[in-house]
Amino acid sequence: MSDVSRTSYRRFFEMFYVTSGSCPSLACPVVLRPKSLFIDRLPTGTGEKVLDRSRPYLIECLNVKIRILGCYGGVTHYHRVTSFLLDDSVLLDAGTVSEVLGADELKKIRAVLVSHAHWDHIRDLPTLADNLFSLGCRGIALAAVKPVLDVVLAHLFNDKIYPDFTRIPSPESPVIVPFPLEAESTVVLEGMEITPVPVSHTVACTAFLVKKGGKGFMFTADSGHTERFWKIARKETGLEFILADVSFPSRMEDVAVMSGHMTPTMLRARLRSYGLLDRTVYITHMKPFFCEEIIGEVASMGEKNIRFLEQGETITF
Ligand SMILES: [Zn+2]
Ligand SMILES: [Zn+2]
Repeated sequence: MSDVSRTSYRRFFEMFYVTSGSCPSLACPVVLRPKSLFIDRLPTGTGEKVLDRSRPYLIECLNVKIRILGCYGGVTHYHRVTSFLLDDSVLLDAGTVSEVLGADELKKIRAVLVSHAHWDHIRDLPTLADNLFSLGCRGIALAAVKPVLDVVLAHLFNDKIYPDFTRIPSPESPVIVPFPLEAESTVVLEGMEITPVPVSHTVACTAFLVKKGGKGFMFTADSGHTERFWKIARKETGLEFILADVSFPSRMEDVAVMSGHMTPTMLRARLRSYGLLDRTVYITHMKPFFCEEIIGEVASMGEKNIRFLEQGETITF
């Protein structure tokens, strides 16, 4: 994994144009075009001239905005399932998209990262693909490790459950372009360094490390008794916070273990054994009808760094 903080501004500028990953299809624009986030927001010109003139502006550009579209492990009238919008252009999981984002916001989406193929993380992929088609958007990367990508393509976009949007409106210029990720291999999407990290769940699943400008966060996705994630979290520099799956109260640890999730007690044990109790951790993926109990339990623990992700909020780092 690269460390942007150790590179020069010149190297950082170059990052907006290149990627360390490979693009499986020349039709995919995500890693081949200049990074619009940077270019669009600079006043004029290109290249280092602009870079020299706009150093303060560049620092502002380092911030990543994370919009929480949904952060629960189930759906009720008040609770939406997992989906985070990074810098307006990259979706991290697609549980909740179409009922929250308007047309102008949907048009900005260039890539969708999928942690795993469970329904609550891909629920809005069909409506998203359909809406993007209607809005004239093409070449949006559907990025996941191959075991996850294979399931989504074989069981969702298969012309049975839903049309195959990797061939619509044409195989040459489809709405969705599959973008296989390699475990623990970093790619740059929209100026953000993205690294999938396999975790223990009931199906193939990856957590994600997201970094930009030497700072970043980690998202456990759905994860139970996993070790690798926490080892990486311990050694990773510039980690601003961790988004961690706590689905059940501690009295239901057997259910949590069986279903590949965590409880507050399990989370605290992980943080303690990896020396991470001083890090900010946002709990996500609570099952709606256990929220109150989980919140009460965490409050009684007295761990001031463990907080709760809130649907509709925006976090920046
Ligand atoms: Zn799951
Ligand atoms: Zn889930």
